[in-house]
Amino acid sequence: MDTQMLIGAKFEAGTEIEEKILNPKTGEMILDLAEASLGQIDAAVDAADKAFQSWSTTTPGQRSAYLLAIADAVEKDALGFATLEALNCGKPINAVLNDEIPAIVDCYRFFAGAIRTLQAPAAGEYLPGFTSMIRRDPIGIVGSIAPWNYPLMMMAWKLAPAIAAGNTVVFKPSEQTPLTALKMAKLMADILPEGVVNVVLGRGESVGNAIINHPKISMVSITGDIATGKKVLAAAAKTVKRTHLELGGKAPVIIYDDADIDAVVSAIRTFGYYNAGQDCTAACRIYAADKVYEKFVADLASAVSTLKYNQADDTENEIGPLISKRQRDRVESFVARASEHKHMEVVTGGKLGSDKGFFYAPTVIAGALQDDEIVRREVFGPVVSVTRFSDVDQAVTWANDSDYGLASSVWTKDISRAMQTAAKLRYGCTWINTHFMLCNEMPHGGLKQSGYGKDMSVYALEDYTAVRHVMIAH
Ligand code: NAD
Repeated sequence: MDTQMLIGAKFEAGTEIEEKILNPKTGEMILDLAEASLGQIDAAVDAADKAFQSWSTTTPGQRSAYLLAIADAVEKDALGFATLEALNCGKPINAVLNDEIPAIVDCYRFFAGAIRTLQAPAAGEYLPGFTSMIRRDPIGIVGSIAPWNYPLMMMAWKLAPAIAAGNTVVFKPSEQTPLTALKMAKLMADILPEGVVNVVLGRGESVGNAIINHPKISMVSITGDIATGKKVLAAAAKTVKRTHLELGGKAPVIIYDDADIDAVVSAIRTFGYYNAGQDCTAACRIYAADKVYEKFVADLASAVSTLKYNQADDTENEIGPLISKRQRDRVESFVARASEHKHMEVVTGGKLGSDKGFFYAPTVIAGALQDDEIVRREVFGPVVSVTRFSDVDQAVTWANDSDYGLASSVWTKDISRAMQTAAKLRYGCTWINTHFMLCNEMPHGGLKQSGYGKDMSVYALEDYTAVRHVMIAH
């Protein structure tokens, strides 16, 4: 197992306090990892600064070749990466191997191609006697900070566009899930020039805080909680850094009375609970039309009760545990508070999912109302609420009535109704008759307090480059 941080060309252990890395399936400790000192963070930034001088002047074709080599190396060691990610996050290994790793490999390949085809207005004489042209140049050193729910994938979403665009990076994984980032650091050190990617370990309030406040870092990209995003913005104001914020979500799912209920139930069973609901796009906030409400709730409860978890044979598991005891306790307390209200009913789940480890039983809460905490706050666990609506406009108003604005879905056989609803929803993504499907060609990112800036797609390259105008007088 790789246990050292990458600073320039050097592998080093941290020198500050140790963080216990746990196996969420058992609660047992995997190992202790010490976090970076301020001196080590400075050294990583200096290495990134030095590397920027040459990396930023490589051609898109050269950087593309590096990204393709990274993709090939990850693909070659897919089982090694998947095993480690499954260990550190408790995910079923098949989910990592069959869903996440191919998407991660494709992310590096996508940006390898996309960086060679950046678009801009035509160069020309927009003022007589002057020729104008647009450049898209790298920004500098990017401080990238990732969450624990998809450690390797969030690393790919952040690193691939940043380095494809010619930036250099100081990357901090979540203090709870650093293992695949350290393996990736080893792989990248074998492929990339020294200092292009640096990986430092530590907690948000110490190492993360030092990164977001570092005067030499030009841009901070963070995926995490809204509260963390606000701290990034406050720090960024001091040195006017660029920010790229992918914050939480509370995805509404509107089910109209003509929807194919079997299809919706099957989709919510998967996409409400994938990764144990620790997903910012999880289909967790359902609005079901009066006419279909009873059948939908009954069918969903029975489908969700069959979800497999905590099986000795991991190939049978559909979902894993929560990441930590703290996260499981948090989920448990949301359900306990909801249960205190008479109008809500826990129709399946509502209990711990194991004696050891951090499992929570997949849960459906019916009868939720718009003002209930369970409808308004991000649970980030295997809990789906269902709210009944009788008026179509009311459903859209409720769906939009949220601090979050990341993902949403609409279920109906009437395509014009679907399109009208999609146009009104204030979410970075609206799926019609599906949910959760992502692809590297399409942007992912939020509105409202879910943040701004796009992951994946050419729009991410726009975020990680500066548009510059060069004008020549003649
Ligand atoms: P978190 O905000 O606690 O931590 C995210 C990262 O930020 C970690 O690396 C952490 O160490 C760091 N951090 C925390 N405090 C910091 C500070 N003061 N300064 C600098 N860095 C700091 O979030 P989490 O609990 O790891 O992840 C779950 C959250 O992430 C959820 O809200 C979820 O919705 C969100 N998320 C969003 C997306 C998206 O694409 N929008 C994707 C995945 C997760």
